[in-house]
Amino acid sequence: MSDSPSIFTKIIAREIPADIVFESDSVIAFRDIAPQAPVHLLVVPKTEEFANVAELAVGNPSLLAELVAVAQQLAMEHTGGQFRLIFNTGENAGQTVFHVHAHVLGGNLEEGTLGH
Ligand code: 5GP
Repeated sequence: MSDSPSIFTKIIAREIPADIVFESDSVIAFRDIAPQAPVHLLVVPKTEEFANVAELAVGNPSLLAELVAVAQQLAMEHTGGQFRLIFNTGENAGQTVFHVHAHVLGGNLEEGTLGH
C-alpha cells in the first residue's frame, strides 16, 4: 500500500520535477500534476513518517498546525484567501499517496460533493 520513498519524498529530493511554490525546513508545497480546480496545490510535510492526517494529528500536532498555516498563506497568495482544504484518508476515500498531504483548492470552485 505505501511506497518508500514516496513520490513526494522524490519531489523533495529533486529526483522528480514539480512546480514548487513554497518550501521550509519541514514543509513543501507544489502544484498538483492533475489539477481539479483553477488553483490546486499540495502541502506536504517533508517527513513521510505519517501516512494520513489522523496519524499526523496524533504524532505531531504542531506539524499539522504548520501545514494548515502554510495552506492559509498560499491561499492568500494564490486564491485571495478563500480555499478548500482536503485530506483524503484511506484508499476508499480516494487517497493514492500514503505520505500525508493537504490539497488546497481555490478559485471559482464548482458546487459539488461537500461544496454546497
Ligand atoms: P491523493 O489521491 O492521495 O489524495 O492525492 C495525491 C495527489 O498527488 C493527486 O491529486 C495526484 O494528482 C498528485 N500527484 C501524484 N503524482 C504526482 C507527481 O508526480 N507530481 C505532482 N505534482 N502531483 C502528483
